[in-house]
Amino acid sequence: DLPPIDGDFYNLDLKLTQEQRDLQIKVRNFMEDEVRPLINDHWNRAKFPFEIIEKFKKLNITGVPYEGYGCPNLPFLMEGIIAQEIARVDVSISTFFGVHSGLAMGSIYLCGSEEQKEEWLPKMQRLEKIGAFGLTEPNVGSGVAGGLETTCKFDGENWVINGQKKWIGNATFADVIIIWARDEDSNQVKGFLVKKDNPGFKAEKMEDKMALRIVQNALITLTDCKVAENDRLQKADSFKDTANVLRMTRAGVAWQAVGCARGAYESALKYTKKREQFGRPIASYQLIQNHLVEMISNLTSMQTLCFRLSELQDEGQLEDEHASLAKVYCSMRMRDVVSRAREVMGGNGILLEYDVARFVADAEAIYSYEGTKEINSLIVGRAITGYSAFVS
Ligand code: FAD
Repeated sequence: DLPPIDGDFYNLDLKLTQEQRDLQIKVRNFMEDEVRPLINDHWNRAKFPFEIIEKFKKLNITGVPYEGYGCPNLPFLMEGIIAQEIARVDVSISTFFGVHSGLAMGSIYLCGSEEQKEEWLPKMQRLEKIGAFGLTEPNVGSGVAGGLETTCKFDGENWVINGQKKWIGNATFADVIIIWARDEDSNQVKGFLVKKDNPGFKAEKMEDKMALRIVQNALITLTDCKVAENDRLQKADSFKDTANVLRMTRAGVAWQAVGCARGAYESALKYTKKREQFGRPIASYQLIQNHLVEMISNLTSMQTLCFRLSELQDEGQLEDEHASLAKVYCSMRMRDVVSRAREVMGGNGILLEYDVARFVADAEAIYSYEGTKEINSLIVGRAITGYSAFVS
């Protein structure tokens, strides 16, 4: 059953059905057996382990909550549990997965026509085609709602896209990249399915990242990139449609933060029980126990919050502010957990070999992507006060 060292203090896993638990354990075993042994080396070299995509196919966990198109159609709760399990071993792999299954497939699922869904979702579900999601730009990050500089214009035959996208995960190798652009005529945001061999599309790998080194983030340049009307997401008419995708995926990012904190906590707990100083395991000292208790308290509060978040999602009641609150809270608590994990490990806390250093670095990416702390706080602030503090 579950490994003995487990960061599920309130037995939330027991709330899952046997079938759901079986899937959780299958994902956990896969991550331990197939991913953990190769992850630090790939992180160090900033290489993506393409061989695991083949192995991932057998798990059938892509597009978990979607109905039809070969997707499992399981509750959102299971999508969260899976995100936690993947991130518990490695946040880069969970980001690869979140971008493909959440942001890219989610855009097509929520904003695509029936034909577009039929064309892309089954192949993406089987991981035969990989997706990316291009919203952020070199000059526009938090302010994407009103500020996109990438433009599209219909020339009577095709849409012509011009601009740049920055930070786009998976984009160096993805088959289809969702590109969001502002229509020069209507000023509304539209989404496009851009294929990797489309003339006018160029993706260059961003080098020298200090977090998520396995994720292949790209700077994309679109130069008179022509896209047929058939490849415009037919149900995306404004930024509100983009925001619907982000609301769904932000919930997944909160679960990723839980996984990152859980992985660091479990490594640290194991370490403190084995490591001896002054003739006793350091876990026996009060100051170390205080760190461990702070960690498990944070982790437990994050998990219980995310359970309810997923329930809201499954009940069809998830609002932007629910997802934003979870993203803000979990990413702050995660930072506290990983820093305490690093602290109780002394010097070994900065060695890749002990895993915690990787969690500390990767936590910084979770902290910033899918809306920074400030932006998600402003979304919650707007909901509870009725005043929007965004300045446009
Ligand atoms: P900025 O928007 O420049 O913000 C800088 C600072 O100013 C932040 O602290 C911010 O909170 C603050 N700030 C901004 N506006 C306000 C305000 N009104 N009030 C108070 N404070 C404010 N994007 C994609 O489209 N696709 C991807 O696949 C993708 N993957 C990513 C992977 C990684 C590793 C990273 C780091 C980013 C990724 N992103 C991706 C982009 C990510 O979503 C942005 O980094 C994020 O939205 C923040 O934008 P920014 O970095 O431009 O920061």
